[in-house]
Amino acid sequence: REAVSSDASLDDRQVEGALRPRALDEFVGQKRVREQLSLVLDSARRRNRAPDHILMSGGPGLGKTTLAMIVAAEMGAPLRITSGPAIERSGDLAAVLSTLQEGEVLFLDEIHRMARPAEEMLYVAMEDYRVDVVVGKGPGATAIPLEIAPFTLVGATTRAGMLPAPLRDRFGFTAHMDFYSPEELEQILNRSAGLLGAPLAEDAAREIAGRSRGTPRIANRLLRRVRDYAEVRGDGHLSLRTARAALELYEVDELGLDRLDRAILDVLMNRFRGGPVGLSTLAVSVGEEAETVEVVAEPFLVRSGFLARTPRGRVATPQAWAHMGLTPPPDAAF
Ligand code: ADP
Repeated sequence: REAVSSDASLDDRQVEGALRPRALDEFVGQKRVREQLSLVLDSARRRNRAPDHILMSGGPGLGKTTLAMIVAAEMGAPLRITSGPAIERSGDLAAVLSTLQEGEVLFLDEIHRMARPAEEMLYVAMEDYRVDVVVGKGPGATAIPLEIAPFTLVGATTRAGMLPAPLRDRFGFTAHMDFYSPEELEQILNRSAGLLGAPLAEDAAREIAGRSRGTPRIANRLLRRVRDYAEVRGDGHLSLRTARAALELYEVDELGLDRLDRAILDVLMNRFRGGPVGLSTLAVSVGEEAETVEVVAEPFLVRSGFLARTPRGRVATPQAWAHMGLTPPPDAAF
C-alpha cells in the first residue's frame, strides 16, 4: 500500500478516503459486526450469489461507508454510491436500479431520508429484482415490469427506528455500529498516523483517542489537526504536549466535548435552568437543525452521562453541571 503524503493539496475528504481500511481484517473494532458480516459474505461466496441486503445502523463517522466499500471489495463486485436525499422521486431510483450490474453493491446512505414513493419501488427491487416503470399518467397509466440484475443493497441509517417496518424487514442482516473503545481508537490513530507518515507518540495517541467521542472519523480529524499544529508550530513530532496544545486551540476539551456539545449544555443550563426542554427548542437555541443535535451531539452527551432524555424533554445531569463548573438551581430537574 502506498503511503499518503501530507501534501497540502490533498483536502480533508480525500485524506479521509485514503485512511479507509480496504479489507475486513483491517477494519478495527466492531468485532461482532465483523464476524456476522464475514459469515454473510462467506456464505454468499459459497453459493455464488449476491449477499443478502445489509442494513447498517449507527451514528455518523462510525464506519458505515467504509464497511459498504469493504463488502464490495470482498465480493470483488462493483460499488455504486447514492443517498436518500438524492432520491427525490421514484424515477431517480429507477434510473439507478435499472443500470446496476450483476452482483453490484448499491450503497444507499441516509436511507431514511428517501422519498416515500421510491421506498415502495425499493421493496420490489430488493425482493424480486424488478422495477415497475410507470408509463403515462392518470387512468391510462400502466406499469411495465422491468427485470434488474441481482444486486446487494447496503443501506445506512443513523436511525434504524425511523425506517418503516416493511423496509427494515427486507434486509437479511442489520449491523449495529457502536461507539469505539479508547483502545480501538488508539489502534485506528496509529494506523492512520502510519499512512500519513506522521510520527505519533504513544501518549499523544492515547490523548487524542480519549477526546474522539468514540468515533473514528473524529479521531482521524483530530489527528490531522494535531499534525498540522506539529508541522507549523513544532518540529513535526506529534508529542503529548503538541496534541494538548492543538486540541485546546480547536476547542476540544479533555472529554472530547466540542463547541456544539458545550453550546447545548450551556443553553440547557443557563437559559432553561437545566431543563426539561424539547429537542426543537434546544436546536433553535443553538442554531442547529434538530436532526444534527439529535444524531451528532446527543448520543455522546447521553452516553457520557451529561444529558438525559425524559418524556418531558432534555435534562442536564448533575455531572453536566459539575463539568461546566456551574451550580444547579435548587429546583433543577434531574
Ligand atoms: P460513516 O459512513 O459511518 O459516517 P465512514 O465509513 O465514512 O463513516 O468512516 C469515517 C472515517 O473513519 C473513514 O475515513 C475511515 O477511515 C475511518 N474509520 C471508520 N471506521 C473505522 C474502523 N473500524 N477502522 C479504521 N478506520 C475506520
